[in-house]
Amino acid sequence: MKAVLDHIGIAVGDIDAALAFYRDALGLEVEAPEEVQSQRVRAHFVPVGQSSLELLEATAPDSAIAKYIDKRGPGIHHITLRVENIAAALAQLKQRGVRLVDDEPRPGAEGALVAFIHPSAAHGVLVELKEPARIRPDLSAKRLAWGDLQLISVNDGLFRLDGGAMFGVVPRPLWERKTRPDDRNRIPLAMRPLVVEGAWGRMIIDCGAGDKWDAKHTDIYAFDRSRHLDHSLADAGLSAGSIEFALATHLHFDHFGGATRREGAAIVPRFGNARYLIRASEWDDATHPHERNRASYLQDDFVPLKSAGVVDFYQEDGVVKPGVRVERTGGHTGQHQIVYLESGGKTALFTADLIPTTAHIQDAWIMGYDLFPMQTLAVKKRVIREAIDREHLVFFEHDPCIAAGYIREKDGRRHVEQVL
Ligand SMILES: [Zn+2]
Repeated sequence: MKAVLDHIGIAVGDIDAALAFYRDALGLEVEAPEEVQSQRVRAHFVPVGQSSLELLEATAPDSAIAKYIDKRGPGIHHITLRVENIAAALAQLKQRGVRLVDDEPRPGAEGALVAFIHPSAAHGVLVELKEPARIRPDLSAKRLAWGDLQLISVNDGLFRLDGGAMFGVVPRPLWERKTRPDDRNRIPLAMRPLVVEGAWGRMIIDCGAGDKWDAKHTDIYAFDRSRHLDHSLADAGLSAGSIEFALATHLHFDHFGGATRREGAAIVPRFGNARYLIRASEWDDATHPHERNRASYLQDDFVPLKSAGVVDFYQEDGVVKPGVRVERTGGHTGQHQIVYLESGGKTALFTADLIPTTAHIQDAWIMGYDLFPMQTLAVKKRVIREAIDREHLVFFEHDPCIAAGYIREKDGRRHVEQVL
């Protein structure tokens, strides 16, 4: 069994007094508290390097923490060791005759599974084992009425990218609390195009990576197509043939690779009845790649569209269909754009790679992939400020679990209130 120190649990009688010490006097950062209903405690995590302190506050008189404090006063309550597979760890302990409090894992804070070892077995210390939450992707199609528009979040399955590259200058100990990398340092990501329906027709914004991949790249990017765009469109009662417009935020493979497909030796438009709306300057950049972006701009994703005569180029920011407005952000690519969905006095925002996942809602959490990160920062600060202040619904194209939500800010801390 490989185990690392996850945190030390401290039973706290007076949380305000405890925060006055740990937060104010020591100057440590305290995360937003989390209720653990099953334990009747409120847990305040205080990161210290690779581990944390967990301040435990009882929320009911019959809570184990309340009883502990009654008996022994406040102080160290338990230590927690993080394991990869808690079921296997418990089986190993049982086999060795170790006395356990929990024979089976149970739900703990932050979506983890936990189990306690009896203090008598651990020389007077209550030891908790913890298997951190694994990301459980949600790939259902979700529909939302938005004024005169219908917004339908669909997906083209999952893939993986290097965790370091996804978070730029943010060190791994910080980002790995949000998402766990695999043994190749890759983190799970979704590809979530958005279908928009209006009186003018049906549009898809971006369309995932598609299925033109060879075995080598399927392995590198861990494409998981057990659920992909055809399934997702079918879930929503739609089909590829029913798409009338396909709009690109930019032409990277994970956003517009699905615009074309193989048909025998040929590569043809994937949406047979659609016009493809592409910003002319993004097209110029994509068709003249350089060393830094060549791996992202795959010519087969878009050149066949022009040959087929199905591309409508445009150049300026503005309304491409009633209620659908594009705005160039630059940053990620020179011509990267976001899409505003505005109807009935409400605003939703498809942020593409400006805010790829809910872990990127901090201004400085910017991808290492971005060609112009300072441009990303400037635009992101403005866009997130507006989204918070004006309650814009924000779509996260690469988040494996949350398709869209409201960014909320309280005491300078941000979180996402999930809507889709
Ligand atoms: Zn992307």
